[in-house]
This record gives sequence, C-alpha cells and structure tokens, in this order.
Amino acid sequence: MDFSWSEEQAAFRKEVIRFAKEELNDDVARRDRDEEFPFDFWKKCAAFGIQGLPVPPEYGGGGADTLTTVCALEALGYGCKDNGFLFLLERAHVDHGDSVDGVRHRRAETPVPAEVDQRGMDRAALHDRAGFRFGRLQPEDSGGTQGRPLCDQWQQDVHHHTIYGDLFIVFANVDPSKGANGVTGFLIEKGTPGLVVGQKLHKMGLRTSPMSEVALVDCEVPAENILGKEGSGQAIFTHSMEWERTCILASHLGMMQRLQETCVKYARERRQFGEPIGKYSAIGNKIADMEVRLESGRLLVYKAAWLKSQGRHALREASMAKLYVSEACVQSCLDAIQIHGGYGYMTEYEMERDLRDAISGKLYSGTSEIQRVIIAGFHGL
Ligand SMILES: Cc1cc2nc3c(=O)[nH]c(=O)nc-3n(C[C@H](O)[C@H](O)[C@H](O)COP(=O)(O)OP(=O)(O)OC[C@H]3O[C@@H](n4cnc5c(N)ncnc54)[C@H](O)[C@@H]3O)c2cc1C
Repeated sequence: MDFSWSEEQAAFRKEVIRFAKEELNDDVARRDRDEEFPFDFWKKCAAFGIQGLPVPPEYGGGGADTLTTVCALEALGYGCKDNGFLFLLERAHVDHGDSVDGVRHRRAETPVPAEVDQRGMDRAALHDRAGFRFGRLQPEDSGGTQGRPLCDQWQQDVHHHTIYGDLFIVFANVDPSKGANGVTGFLIEKGTPGLVVGQKLHKMGLRTSPMSEVALVDCEVPAENILGKEGSGQAIFTHSMEWERTCILASHLGMMQRLQETCVKYARERRQFGEPIGKYSAIGNKIADMEVRLESGRLLVYKAAWLKSQGRHALREASMAKLYVSEACVQSCLDAIQIHGGYGYMTEYEMERDLRDAISGKLYSGTSEIQRVIIAGFHGL
C-alpha cells in the first residue's frame, strides 16, 4: 500500500490551495448573508480548469482520475471558505459525471458519435422516437421506491435542483410496470416549455449556492435528450451516485483540516486560569478527536476514489465515505465552536457558517439514514 500523493498530485494540490486562498475568499460572510452566488469565482475556476477536471480530454476536460479529483477538491475545501460555492463546483463535476456516464453508456449500446457542447454535456441523438411528455411528477408518480435507497434521488430531481446551469438532469420512471428498469435519464434544457423554475428556496447553510424549486408541467422532452438508452436510467444513476458520494464531501476534508489548524492555534494562544486552554484535557481531547476524524475520513474517501481510479466498483465504500465524512464534519464544527467558547458562536469567527454548511452534507446525495440502508443492504439486510 502507498498512502502518498504522487509528485504531480502533491504539486497540483499545492497550486490549488494557493489559487483557492488567493482567489476564492472575498466577501464570503456578506454573500452568505445576502445569498449571493459568486459568478466571478465560477469563471476563475473554469479558467483554472476545475470544472472540467475529471472530464475526459476528448470532451475538452482535464482527464483527471477520481483520486486526483478528490485531491483537488480537498485542497479547495482547505483554501476556500465558501462552502456553498464549493458545493456548486462539486455538483458541476457530478453533472459532468452524469453526462459522461450517459455517453459511455450510449457508446456501449449504440455506436453513435457524440456531439458535445462547450459545457461538456452530451446531447447526441440516440433514438429517433418522438419524445416523452412529463406531467407534474409527485414522488409516488415517479416509481414508488420506498425501501429502494438508490432511487430516492431521482424522485427529488423533479422537485428541486440548483438553478445555475442550462441543463437539468432528470431521472423519471417512464414505465412503472418495469420497476427500476423503467427509469430513464433525460437532459432537459432550461427554456423547455413545461420546465418551470419556481420560487427560490432559502437555506440555513450553503447560502451562496442558490436553489429553486423545479417542476415539470406537461413538459415534452425530445427523445434525443435521453441519457444512455431508455430504461438504463437506474444503472446511470447508480454509477453517478457512486461518483458523487465519493467526491462530493472531499472539500469537507479540507474544511476539517482548516478547522483543526485554527483550533490548535487558538488552544495554544488562549489562556484561562493561567494555562493555555489546550493544556486542559477536555480541550486537548477535542483536538485529538478532530484529527482522528479527519484522518479516518481521508482513508475512507481516498479508498473509494482509489477503487474508482482503478475502474472498480465502490458503491459500498462511497456510501461509507459519504456517511462518515458528513457526520464527522458536523461534529468537528461543533467541537471547533466549543473550543472557541463564546467567540465560536460569533459570525466573525466563521465557524457557525461552517456548521450550517456542514449539516446539509447529511442530507443531499442520500441522507445518512439511506447510506446506512445501502451499507446494510450489502449484507442482505
Ligand atoms: C442542500 C441540498 C441540496 C440538494 N440538491 C439536490 C439535487 O441537486 N438533486 C436532487 O435530486 N436532490 C437534491 N437534494 C434533495 C435531497 O437529496 C433530499 O432532501 C434527500 O434525499 C432526502 O429526501 P427527502 O427530503 O424527500 O426526505 P425523506 O425521504 O422524506 O426523508 C425524511 C426522513 O426519513 C428518512 N428516511 C426516508 N426513507 C428512509 C428509509 N427507507 N430508511 C430509513 N430512513 C428513511 C430520511 O433519512 C430522513 O431522515 C438536496 C438537498 C439539500 C438539503
């Protein structure tokens, strides 16, 4: 086993941290208060090559493997304090992943050359069938998947999604009689009649990444917008969830390292009753626990990413990584606030924002409960 980054990865990591610290930290507190997305940061990241990092070079991307992508995302989480912005960046990777999966899927099934637009999204024609009409889908309409954890997300796609971007990825059950085999993935372009972007949703955290309700009301989607082929949605979804759950919390690892370093510094400097507070085991233990959580989270995320970089399945490992890091990060945020005493509660110290941002990690991309269902499911439970 080799637990070290390659020379190139280590140099890239350093460069990403420098970039994030210098370019992505302006005005975070105000934007958090005003729920403002930093579009200029988005453009800077695009110029740096972040959004396209894991996209294959033939589609204009950086061709990085999953491990290198995780390395970059962790570095971003360490250098950049705007977790909401990073959440959207990570979603960009997920969306690319989804579409790339669709491309791969289609290639396996139908040898049609891909036409890829500048966002790396595939819109190649797959079928010459007429199209699909969606009504306003309610959870029960989209397949009834209680107890089938891998399906909870595509129900949700119908209801809300981040509004940045011009393409929506929707998984819908077009033939419920086939169960999961009736699920098909679609790309729906902004502006398609019947795709209704509704009211803005106000969130406790990740406030710099705006979200709105999205509904499909008698929405007609041309068949060429199918991802993969009809009925292959479940496989594409599972594949992209594996990717998402491996990568989406890598930035939390960076955040955890940043918090840990801040706490060590504070515990050394802040004196009470004649001693630095870090000398009291109640505080030292918290710092030790933060460190153990960080290293354990890294091992889980790196293992899942390594498996995927080897082209191997990582469904169970990705769920374990997602579950552990999301919960560990919340606990470390709480510890960081506690270590800072009253100051930790003040917005100026920025930890309350990290906590608000971190809580969402237990919800999106499948809740903690669903990750446990998936993991137990590997034992037939
Ligand atoms: C910041 C944020 C961003 C998001 N982005 C997206 C997005 O881009 N795309 C998207 O599709 N969705 C997105 N979501 C939605 C998110 O995936 C869902 O909220 C989540 O999957 C839970 O679904 P739900 O809200 O319907 O809760 P419910 O399914 O109603 O669950 C309620 C509670 O019951 C538990 N529960 C439900 N079923 C089971 C079960 N079988 N076993 C045990 N416990 C169970 C849940 O864990 C939860 O605690 C986002 C959510 C947030 C907070």
